[in-house]
Amino acid sequence: MVVLGIESTAHTASVGIVGEGAEVLGLASDFYRPTAGGIHPREAANHHVEVLPALVGRALDSAKVRPGEIEAVAFAQGPGLGPCLRAGATVARMLSLAWERPLVPVNHCVAHVEIARVLSGLDDPLLLYASGGNTQVIAYARGRYRVLGETLDIGIGNFLDKLWIGLGGTFPGGPALESEALQGGERLPLPYSVHGMDVAFSGILTATLALHAKGAKRADLAYSVEVTSYAMLTEITERALAHRGRDSVVLGGGVACNGRLREMVRAMTESRGGSMFAPPKSLCVDNGAMIAWTGLLAFRAGVTTPVEASGVEPRQRTDLVATPWRPE
Ligand code: AMP
Ligand code: MG
Repeated sequence: MVVLGIESTAHTASVGIVGEGAEVLGLASDFYRPTAGGIHPREAANHHVEVLPALVGRALDSAKVRPGEIEAVAFAQGPGLGPCLRAGATVARMLSLAWERPLVPVNHCVAHVEIARVLSGLDDPLLLYASGGNTQVIAYARGRYRVLGETLDIGIGNFLDKLWIGLGGTFPGGPALESEALQGGERLPLPYSVHGMDVAFSGILTATLALHAKGAKRADLAYSVEVTSYAMLTEITERALAHRGRDSVVLGGGVACNGRLREMVRAMTESRGGSMFAPPKSLCVDNGAMIAWTGLLAFRAGVTTPVEASGVEPRQRTDLVATPWRPE
């Protein structure tokens, strides 16, 4: 079975094609880059509309698959930015109608879990999902993926991006901050904001910019921000493991590309006798292959949607999505 998946929840327009064993046959992505500030939903959606048709062609070419061999068309239904979601859903509906193939709706967060789960070979890991807009600890329990902990304000990636722009840099902030942090060594005092299973970042943002205004070195600020915020994520992940009686973690989301975060979570899981798995970066960030793979799981379990009922759901909650491919 071969399934094509379309991702367009935020910055990334991406088309992936996967086979029965989660092999990625083709993957083509294009990223909207705001010229200033953060993401503008309508501009991002215009970007996706422009690039998606060519991405479909590139994915098919690289997979050496003909449209007739695609058995289902999956798309990210939510959560995400409405205009961006609609751009991807429209292309998916069109392909579904043109190729006369079923349309399969996929939850974006569940897709991050499923691609990491299959690549890791771990049966029931927790997911630490750290991306631009989302920061969640997700685990499977009683027929659903459940959000055990999450950010109370902004997503960690958006926090790092805002912070880096505030320190005089440009979008995206996460990777640049990572290099800068490697030059730093002094840990400056920043708020450590863990509330039970949840975290918050806006206080650290304010405090960091205040230290910057007082002349603190950018490298030390970058180092302190990374150490503080990744320790917060590691702590809530460990607490979730303890509650669930589990020891293994998979990572997802763009911030999961970060070497320091990977090492901190690895050290924590190993100290508990478990393991940590992070997918290759192309499958950590938003991508069409994870949508295609989750679409394949869903389609095999009988999930499809008529085009008329395939509306996008910008606020779709992870724990409201049925997962009939997983045993209760
Ligand atoms: P996503 O929303 O999953 O597409 O991820 C995008 C976010 O990941 C942006 O906020 C980036 O700044 C962030 N990001 C990408 N690479 C890294 C990195 N190496 N370290 C920290 N954050 C990163
Ligand atoms: Mg994502």
